[in-house]
Amino acid sequence: MLLILLKQQKLWNGNFFEKSSLHAVGLVVKLGHDGRQCVVPSPPQTVQVFDITGVHKVLIEYCNCQSQSTLRFVQLLHCQLFPSTIKRIKTAYTFEMLNTFQELSLQGKTMIYDFYHTILNCSDPLHLEKCPVFYSSRLCSV
Ligand SMILES: [Zn+2]
Repeated sequence: MLLILLKQQKLWNGNFFEKSSLHAVGLVVKLGHDGRQCVVPSPPQTVQVFDITGVHKVLIEYCNCQSQSTLRFVQLLHCQLFPSTIKRIKTAYTFEMLNTFQELSLQGKTMIYDFYHTILNCSDPLHLEKCPVFYSSRLCSV
C-alpha cells in the first residue's frame, strides 16, 4: 500500500502540472493496526523514505498502545520499511529499494554511490532541492 502512496503526484494549478506530494496535502500513514486508527497514537512525524521511485517525505503516526510491538522500528518493518536507525527515526528505505540494490550490486556490480544518485535523480532530475543526505567523499576513500 505504501508503495502506491510514494508515486510522484502532479496537480494541475490552473496553468501547468505542479509537482506535489501526499505529504504536502497532509496524508498520514498510521502504523500498528493495519491502517486503522490507534487509540493512543503518537504525533505524526516526518520520515524521509527512499524508494526506487525517489526520495519522499511521509508523515507517520506510530502506535503507542501495544506493549511489545510499540517499538517504532518494528512497526516500520511490518510496513516493509527498513529504518536507518532504531532511535529517532528520520530516514527509512523500502524493502523493494533494498532488494533492487542487492540485485544490481550482485548482477551489475553497481556501487552504493551510483545507486544513491540514481535514486536522487528519479525524484529531482534537475537537482532543484537540497540533497536529503550528505554523502561524504571520506566514505569513498579507503
Ligand atoms: Zn495502537
